[in-house]
Amino acid sequence: MTKEIPTTTDYFHINMLVKSIIDEVAQYMKNTPKEVIAEEIQKAYIYARNAHEGQMRKSWDPYILHPVEATRELLILRPDIVTIQSCLLHDVPEDTDKTVEDIRAVFGDEVAYITAGMEKLSNLKYRGEERTIGSLRKMFIAMSEDVRVIFVKLADRLHNMKTIEFHPNKEKRERIALETLNVYAPIADRLGIFDFKEALETECFKILYPEEYNRIKEELSVFKEAQEIFVTKVKQLIIDTMPEGVPIVDISYRVKSPWSIYKKMQRKGYERVQDLYDLFALRIITDSVHHCYDILGTIHTIWTPVPKRFKDYIALPKENGYQSLHTTVVGIFHEFRSQPTEIQIRTLAMHRQAEIGVAAHFAYSETGQSKTAKDAYWAAELKEILDNSEDSDFMTQMKIGVFDDRIFAFTPRGQIQVLPKGSTPVDFAYSVHSDLGDHIAVARVNGRVVPLDYELRNGESVEIVMDKNRNPSITWLSFVKTTRARESIKAYSNRTNRDQLIEKGRFILNAHLLKHFNKTLDKDLSLLKIIDGKTLDTEGRENVLVQLGNLSRKPSSVTRSMLENSSSELHKLKELGEQVKKEKKIPGPKSEWISLELIIGGEKHIPYRFAHCCEPKVGDKVVGYITRNGVNIHKIDCTSLRQKDFDRYIPAYWEGMKAQGLHIRAEMVFENKIGVLKSLTEIFFLMRINIDEMSAHTDTDGLSHIVFSLKTEEEDYYLFERLMERVKLSIGEFKEGKLLEMK
Ligand code: MN
Repeated sequence: MTKEIPTTTDYFHINMLVKSIIDEVAQYMKNTPKEVIAEEIQKAYIYARNAHEGQMRKSWDPYILHPVEATRELLILRPDIVTIQSCLLHDVPEDTDKTVEDIRAVFGDEVAYITAGMEKLSNLKYRGEERTIGSLRKMFIAMSEDVRVIFVKLADRLHNMKTIEFHPNKEKRERIALETLNVYAPIADRLGIFDFKEALETECFKILYPEEYNRIKEELSVFKEAQEIFVTKVKQLIIDTMPEGVPIVDISYRVKSPWSIYKKMQRKGYERVQDLYDLFALRIITDSVHHCYDILGTIHTIWTPVPKRFKDYIALPKENGYQSLHTTVVGIFHEFRSQPTEIQIRTLAMHRQAEIGVAAHFAYSETGQSKTAKDAYWAAELKEILDNSEDSDFMTQMKIGVFDDRIFAFTPRGQIQVLPKGSTPVDFAYSVHSDLGDHIAVARVNGRVVPLDYELRNGESVEIVMDKNRNPSITWLSFVKTTRARESIKAYSNRTNRDQLIEKGRFILNAHLLKHFNKTLDKDLSLLKIIDGKTLDTEGRENVLVQLGNLSRKPSSVTRSMLENSSSELHKLKELGEQVKKEKKIPGPKSEWISLELIIGGEKHIPYRFAHCCEPKVGDKVVGYITRNGVNIHKIDCTSLRQKDFDRYIPAYWEGMKAQGLHIRAEMVFENKIGVLKSLTEIFFLMRINIDEMSAHTDTDGLSHIVFSLKTEEEDYYLFERLMERVKLSIGEFKEGKLLEMK
């Protein structure tokens, strides 16, 4: 091909990258002539470059830069030639005219097999929500047939994450980062490829928690210099102290990755990065196991080891095969560092294994007698890693990353619970066991006590402390997200709190009636005489109040039912209201436009019509879509809407159906102590409550009465009770609270 290449300089740069790949491969493939290495790599590179010609990355780089960079990431695993070729060609079947069969004709069965595996995996990616555990399991079985597919896939994902900033859509960036954090990083971890794991996590961290990432980066940079001086000095001292004949191949140090630092700070409640004593570790590499123990002995004569922190992973390797001696000592150059310091001692072979884990066995080796990735040994080992009991959770974990509306949280034993987004410790407890939910006393998230309405975040570890004397509270209904929790709480409350629920239901309905009809219930509940077309006796009327009280029915649905009955008092009131409305009516819309009480973008009387695609009916949840002639109303879940222009959406709802918010006035009584008000405002802040007004006075008994009024966006009828529960929990001076008004 002699077509003109548009960006010559870029191609020149990429050609140089390919040369550097060849040089590096020649370093570890000493028995293969460099010309052969160069020829095979160039062949794949040129083939891929021609196939991708004219394609651009989102960064405006020529597409071929991506497979080349992915191959550079892959090199740490010391891949064989076939894997390198497959990586260079990995997007060819997916994104170009060339097929797997074309590749087979030029590069043979193995390369074709690996690129076909990559294509299969990327198909999974595009299927999004349809992805089920079953297809994911298949995906892993496909992987375990040839571990090289997953190595290429990890390298591919790593380079995509490193360039994800060019992706224009923030939500998509976050979704990809979540998927990477939940699917790819754990795979790298299981396979022991820590470089990949950490690099992937770091990129995800940047996308998902940019502020926290920058803060940690900044804190790390502050004492970097002191750390370096420290390491140089320690290095020299260790070298000087070693007895003769104990060779030190290398002394280096590694800083904990930002994501691990972040997680640990969360877990331990640390405020500053430097509070972590294992922030960095010194690593000493020697030539033999025997010398590892010699070095350990010498270290312990110079500095004092911390009891119980010595670990012999040489005699007792970790499950993933990791070997090393770990010891933690105090007093190394205390002028630089007050925390104890971890020292790891290992041989070069152990080091290699530690760096790339499972891949170490697979890595190209001159002595190895063609230990191919398809060896039964490999398939078996990988299957075991991915199939053992703990890993059925791992599978669940896989699934979650692809569902935006789900989160996963861990039990203290590391089991995973899948929950809808916004779930709380109460949802978590009920999803583990209904008994646990029914008797929650305290919830801890990452070791810290949290309120029961705390919103769980992905990956948090939740511990529920049980107390047989505690029972579900009806107030939980206003924050739980799962049906299971809701039904259990309702069932419990209906059994035990009927009177309380009737009172609450009366309160809720009265607030609604007062607001919309300037009316309240009488003693006989006569407004509830006919509901849903049925005539109700006293018990039936009270049942309606129970439904309102346990939040299984909305007051607007009860009043709508009252209005349907033309003989009801409410109906008459409403007719009166309509009379007034008619007199003020604006010119009527064209006949084809239907006039109903639909509020569009907060306005009444906007001309609209129902879309033909989904045919919404009055009362459906709807959304408006602005057209040249007015607004088309679609059902909220209408599939044809997804292809449309988001800027033209406009919110719409049926009058009276949307929550209109509540106004609450309440009083709380406290012992008069300094700091009470501050604690109270902190709770308001945490619960995202805006206070409109607050006043305080002290009575003759020296008690402080605080009266406040607030507005909520949602009709959260149990807000006050929840507020009281939190106040009771965290302010010891609390005496009592009273709801004065709700409307
Ligand atoms: Mn790719």
